[in-house]
Amino acid sequence: MVFAGGPTSHQPEMVLPVLVPTGSGRWARLAHFLNDRDTWHKIDLVRRPDPNRAGGWRYEMHLLVLNDGYHSPRVRDQLAAAPRDRVACVDVNVSNLSVTSRNHELTSLETTVVKVSEIERERLVREVLQRRRRQRSLDRSRRATNVAQYQKSKAQVRRDQRRAAHGLSEVTTLARGARRMRTKEKPIQAYRRDTLSKQYVHLRTIDAARARATSITKGQAAWAISRELIAIHGPHWIIEDCHLPTWSRSWGKAMAISAPGMVTCALAATSAELNGSFTKVSTATTALSSTCLCGAKVRKVLGERVHRCASCGLVGDRDLVSAALGTCVTPATTADEHDLVDSAIATALRQMIAIIGCEDTLVSQTQPLELGRHGSVQAARPDPMGPGCSRERPLRAPSTKGRGRPRLAKVARLRGLALRHPTG
Ligand SMILES: [Zn+2]
Repeated sequence: MVFAGGPTSHQPEMVLPVLVPTGSGRWARLAHFLNDRDTWHKIDLVRRPDPNRAGGWRYEMHLLVLNDGYHSPRVRDQLAAAPRDRVACVDVNVSNLSVTSRNHELTSLETTVVKVSEIERERLVREVLQRRRRQRSLDRSRRATNVAQYQKSKAQVRRDQRRAAHGLSEVTTLARGARRMRTKEKPIQAYRRDTLSKQYVHLRTIDAARARATSITKGQAAWAISRELIAIHGPHWIIEDCHLPTWSRSWGKAMAISAPGMVTCALAATSAELNGSFTKVSTATTALSSTCLCGAKVRKVLGERVHRCASCGLVGDRDLVSAALGTCVTPATTADEHDLVDSAIATALRQMIAIIGCEDTLVSQTQPLELGRHGSVQAARPDPMGPGCSRERPLRAPSTKGRGRPRLAKVARLRGLALRHPTG
């Protein structure tokens, strides 16, 4: 890449070599973005901290292209084959997403539950613990280099008082109390004026790089999930209008692992790409989680996960039944109208379930998806179920790649031992 100063510049041109991404399947992607120069908008030269590079910085060129994003041939075929005659509703939960869709003729019902696989959950929990350890280490380092800015904790003060009563001197340890503040929100010394050690800066870079990598992995998984969902349920979606940041105040840890907001955002974008619809409907006027398809009120506390209707006898997973009812909502078209459940469609859907005999569809999902390692989506083994209206899909066994191999830290330690105790 050559950066020239323009026709009036006397400065030499800056010539930078660019390493284009390589690997299986990358070439078609590169060709998609690089072949048509008329669509190029701008190129930014960007540097960002990278603890693994010499000098601590990674230099990148970001090309902004004004054309459609790239899809591999497999994804293109997958999206092109998505059914167009279905209405799907997603019920967002703290730890999973439940999806039910029906076709316009009311002859088929499909359900999917998206959840994080056990291996992925373990990995994410381990990552959270590592992050917390790094944050503590950073906090200790900042306190050690800015001793005057922190006060002793209550326990430390009590210990000093005890020692003074016995005629002993104060113990000089790192103050573990709060920052010294000028007002309630303003510290005496601004954080940016703190003295930071080299180790602190290095660790902070590592922390930021890991957080970025985790976020990218989650984002890619969300896109993969959204494509899978659209391939099964089509591009027309209805979602309950809930405020996820409020939920994360109470269930932050679970939501950080399952990232339901990322999946719904990706779902909205993919649906728009296919000229579909993604409509948010009010929870107040529809009351999806406390109404049955037959119209009866079935009130449940939050911990009650099974829907049991005394009126029509429908038994099913609470979220899947709620999503099934969501597919019958008529969204408001003007400001005076309200989003309401179309009781005629809901009753017809209930009758269809009874006639075809696919009550099991709402008990256990017909199209289960699991979020696997490195953002791959795997079809999970479905629960045994009776005659349903699901179509057969090939199931992939969960990947065990990487398990059972010695970890890097373990290898390093063994090498260390071998050096200290050479055999022979
Ligand atoms: Zn009912």
